[in-house]
Amino acid sequence: MKILIVEDEKPLAESVKALLEKQGFEADCVYDGLSGVEHARLGVYDLLILDVMLPGMDGRQVAKLVRSGRCGTPILMLTALSGVDDRIAGLDAGADYYLAKPFDSRELLACVNALLRRQGGQVDELALGNTALELVSCTLVCGEKSARLSAKEFDVMRFLLGAKNGISSKEAILAKVWGYDSNAVENHVEVYVGFLRKKLASIGSNIRIEAVRRLGYRLEVVED
Ligand code: CA
Repeated sequence: MKILIVEDEKPLAESVKALLEKQGFEADCVYDGLSGVEHARLGVYDLLILDVMLPGMDGRQVAKLVRSGRCGTPILMLTALSGVDDRIAGLDAGADYYLAKPFDSRELLACVNALLRRQGGQVDELALGNTALELVSCTLVCGEKSARLSAKEFDVMRFLLGAKNGISSKEAILAKVWGYDSNAVENHVEVYVGFLRKKLASIGSNIRIEAVRRLGYRLEVVED
């Protein structure tokens, strides 16, 4: 799960990031509204944590622009403004939940978990063909056989299974799994796809990861 924090108070942004990372989330920080919109529209985040008072473009404008791009990522808005009118304006702009500053870290985590659960609809596995990816145990299961995946293998497999139009570009996989700031290159994606192909074959899965020239990868089910 990847979370974007849009907050201009850097110490607060960093402490929220550290808190989330301690819980096993990945988190990126940006410090102004425009960067927030640009990052949110990449479609690689599972949740946005958005401050209202930001330089340049405020959090409500960010939420509106993100929503106008048909991005359904849940938005948790943070603000020092705690009047009812402010809360309503935030919700009208497209926020899913509103948390007043100062907040308790447990309260923030509870909101994050609730929004992510709502988003995920409590799915505990993703299935295709004769194979399921168990999300809690990071395991590929096919009949009696199973293979544990490393964290990166799991993230790549999950991304491939979630591709809405069927095709996942190497660039999108790289952004989602390794993040924009990492030094990973497309070759990393190829290597991990290689690992996944071996694991799928080892459990007798009928899923094939097909390379689509210049576009990326597509999962196919091979019926015997
Ligand atoms: Ca602020």
